[in-house]
Amino acid sequence: MLCDQPQPAPAPPGSAQSGRVPGKRRRSLAQGITHTIFSLFENRNGFWPCNHTVIQSIELEIGNRQTGGNVSKIEGIDTSIPPSGTGCADCLSGDGPGWWLNLRRCAQCGQIGCCDSSPSQHATKHAAETGHPIIQSFEPGENWFWSYQENDYIEGQELAPPTSRPVDQPKPGPEGKVPANWKDLLH
Ligand SMILES: [Zn+2]
Ligand SMILES: [Zn+2]
Repeated sequence: MLCDQPQPAPAPPGSAQSGRVPGKRRRSLAQGITHTIFSLFENRNGFWPCNHTVIQSIELEIGNRQTGGNVSKIEGIDTSIPPSGTGCADCLSGDGPGWWLNLRRCAQCGQIGCCDSSPSQHATKHAAETGHPIIQSFEPGENWFWSYQENDYIEGQELAPPTSRPVDQPKPGPEGKVPANWKDLLH
């Protein structure tokens, strides 16, 4: 199902959507607010002994309130966990016919699984078994996130690298395990 749906095109670097870090937008909002405050303070020169210290502490306070600290948390995403490997962990450990079409990464524990078009659909099975609700594509050039809870694409966060399988890794894969009639065997 996921594999057949049109996928949102990755935003070009430098565009408004390419950052995809909620904290960044909030930080510029905070900066806007503090800039306004700073302008007000400038008009009362001498009232505050050190404008910069006041401004910095206000900006830090606003930023912390909005993000809950330095990094905002999304339930189901752990940005510190690296991927489990370069291929579907369950396929490689011998479950099912052992080959895949597209790879997906569990955003919570890093488990690499195979997509819903693949024979074993390990990524979706992993989500159902563990309750880990969010995956990211592990295919080169794709950075979209999917939430099983919301049944929709969501805004994610930059995960620990690498964020895709090696470009020179064959698809379908892995090499030597893909039958000649693999197209007939897709879901
Ligand atoms: Zn698999
Ligand atoms: Zn997981």
